[in-house]
Amino acid sequence: MAGEIPFRRDFAFEYGRSERLTPLIRRVVARNPSPFTFKGTGTYIIGNGKVAVIDPGPKQQDHIDALLKALDGETVTHILITHTHNDHSPASAAIKAATGAKTYGFGPHGSGRPEERIGGQTEEGGDRDFVPDVKLREGDTIQGGGDGGAWHIGAVETPGHTSNHLCFALHEEDTLFTGDHVMGWSTSVISPPDGDMAAYMRSLNKLLYRDDAVYWPTHGPSIPEPKPFVQAFIAHREERSAAIVRALAAGDETIPQIVARVYVGLDPKLTAAAGRSVYAQLVELVEQTRVISDGPPSLETRYKLAR
Ligand SMILES: [Zn+2]
Repeated sequence: MAGEIPFRRDFAFEYGRSERLTPLIRRVVARNPSPFTFKGTGTYIIGNGKVAVIDPGPKQQDHIDALLKALDGETVTHILITHTHNDHSPASAAIKAATGAKTYGFGPHGSGRPEERIGGQTEEGGDRDFVPDVKLREGDTIQGGGDGGAWHIGAVETPGHTSNHLCFALHEEDTLFTGDHVMGWSTSVISPPDGDMAAYMRSLNKLLYRDDAVYWPTHGPSIPEPKPFVQAFIAHREERSAAIVRALAAGDETIPQIVARVYVGLDPKLTAAAGRSVYAQLVELVEQTRVISDGPPSLETRYKLAR
């Protein structure tokens, strides 16, 4: 099933090096590879001379040093945060301290509880220290630049991966920075309660009404011609949902049973994440009254088809 998504995993880069990607976009990749971050966090620098930074990344000194070196001689006017996972927002504190720039994001980390971190992995854990100086909402636009090229960046609300996820549209280059909402190398982890499958699907649909020429996710390579890619993700989730319904029809009642049936050949390191993904789908199916559970939906609840 997953084979139908045209994944993009060819990714040429060098850790800690500022690479020019387009006239207005540079990137520095952090050395924090994991099953959730691919090769690591890609921090984007927008503009020349007067710049915005998107997702400063993990609280990792070598990355912070590399980023500050890349920004040497320039003025950072805005620090933008797609969402508050530990591989995206924590370094904003150091970049803010070094540059005096304000931070911009939807808001602090949402309703997720710390004990619900995926399989003990901290990369995708919530950053509970981050509070944006400026809250952004749908359509809010910030502008900057100057002699090195003016830029305008609009906020696009895309809850689902987290409740506070934003994508950022760079108008001058018809580019969308998609954070972890849409990535080329993998599907997104949707982990309740802060992750919300129904919201994620709405946020995927929302992108189909846009005309972005290219996506730059936080992890991995860019996605040119993004619409068929988004459509493939939507189809993939719908197929997963159907596979879960079939597993329930076949008598499975628990999340581990469903994972074993639906995720054949899964890397054992990803079993917990797959369980959380099935859980997210079940929460949506219960909301749709297609599935019933023997208590409020959780990882331990037993599930049955409603009819
Ligand atoms: Zn994330």
